[in-house]
Amino acid sequence: MTRRFDTECVHCGTHPDPQTGALSTPIYQTSTFAFKNADEGARRFKGEEKGYIYTRLGNPNFTAVEEKIALLEGGEAAAVAASGMGAISSVLWTALSSGDHVLAAKTLYGCTHSLLSHQFPRFGIETTFMDLTDLSAVRAAVKPNTRVIYCESISNPTMAIADIAGLAKIARENNALLVVDNTYCSPVVTRPLELGAHVVVHSATKYLNGHGDVIAGVAVGSAEFIGRVKMEGLKDLTGATLSPFDAYLLLRGMKTLHLRVPRHCGNAMKVAEFLESRPEVAEVRYPGLDGFPQKELAGRQMKYFGAMIAMELKGGYEAGKKFIESTRLWTLAVSLGDAESLIQHPASMTHSALSDEEQAAAGISKGLIRMSVGLEDPEDLIDDLKQAFAAL
Ligand SMILES: *Cc1c(COP(=O)(O)O)cnc(C)c1O
Repeated sequence: MTRRFDTECVHCGTHPDPQTGALSTPIYQTSTFAFKNADEGARRFKGEEKGYIYTRLGNPNFTAVEEKIALLEGGEAAAVAASGMGAISSVLWTALSSGDHVLAAKTLYGCTHSLLSHQFPRFGIETTFMDLTDLSAVRAAVKPNTRVIYCESISNPTMAIADIAGLAKIARENNALLVVDNTYCSPVVTRPLELGAHVVVHSATKYLNGHGDVIAGVAVGSAEFIGRVKMEGLKDLTGATLSPFDAYLLLRGMKTLHLRVPRHCGNAMKVAEFLESRPEVAEVRYPGLDGFPQKELAGRQMKYFGAMIAMELKGGYEAGKKFIESTRLWTLAVSLGDAESLIQHPASMTHSALSDEEQAAAGISKGLIRMSVGLEDPEDLIDDLKQAFAAL
């Protein structure tokens, strides 16, 4: 019997514990697993027999998370990592070799941008950052050695939306992989693999866990590629292994993903409409607003419009600074996707690893404010913003 998405959020990946019947997956807080005999150990190392060996290589708490997220994203397999960056770097280490070329969106999460722009050149991997929303320019920029096209389903923090189906087609025609960071959306909003992407990565720290108490990452894709991510990326190279306890919390968080994300998005729509009505605001970028430049694309590939908002105040950086220091209910903090609403300043915080020139090229202006809309009563969120506007 096929089960629907909401049912899978609750059930998939969890099986009553064979020994005790525990319905919630127990925490297997162990570094190693005893073999019955020498032959069993040898068979497991050869991969001839399923079973656990050592937690860096696999653990029942990881398996539960991997089964759930693979199913929710519509992929064959998944790998959990100690952080979103652990998952992203493991995927890129696996897909790329010296001499390869990457086409990446000009705006990306700050550390992903740094990895590609500042670190990979040391290993002979070059990246062209460009506006991926222009598909004919993308087609023209592909080189014979382009192995990866990399984007975020919604760019952090500028809110540009990637045309995933269009990019996937270009990647397939050129024997490259389309890797999509789906952190901003979660599979409740957008499912990149169904649109043709090869690999999805997440900072599971954000919506997937959703409670602001774990750092974690996941990669989802074909069984063949994810097997290589574990063997070549996670296991041998980066060692970015999650802890069993954090995997347990992540699984618990994902059980309510289908309830939390639509509420986040509904709250964000109300906050975005309020911001748009304010005379102090120069620009609000939120895919649900009529004036959003990529409204048609958003309607095509997003089930909801997400819960992240970018805003520019007329008073620029000084007004922005005052504003983020004046909110009381909104917490001045980086991260996103928590139950609590968060507000921050990308140029001096999440994207400060980029030089001034890189920020300008990425479209991150000094006055841009990023807001992660939480699960509070939206009227309370709006009341708090009203008093922060009054303080300007
Ligand atoms: C937070 C974030 C990351 C990095 O994830 P960590 O869990 O902090 O390592 C990557 N991509 C996006 C879009 C993010 O928001």
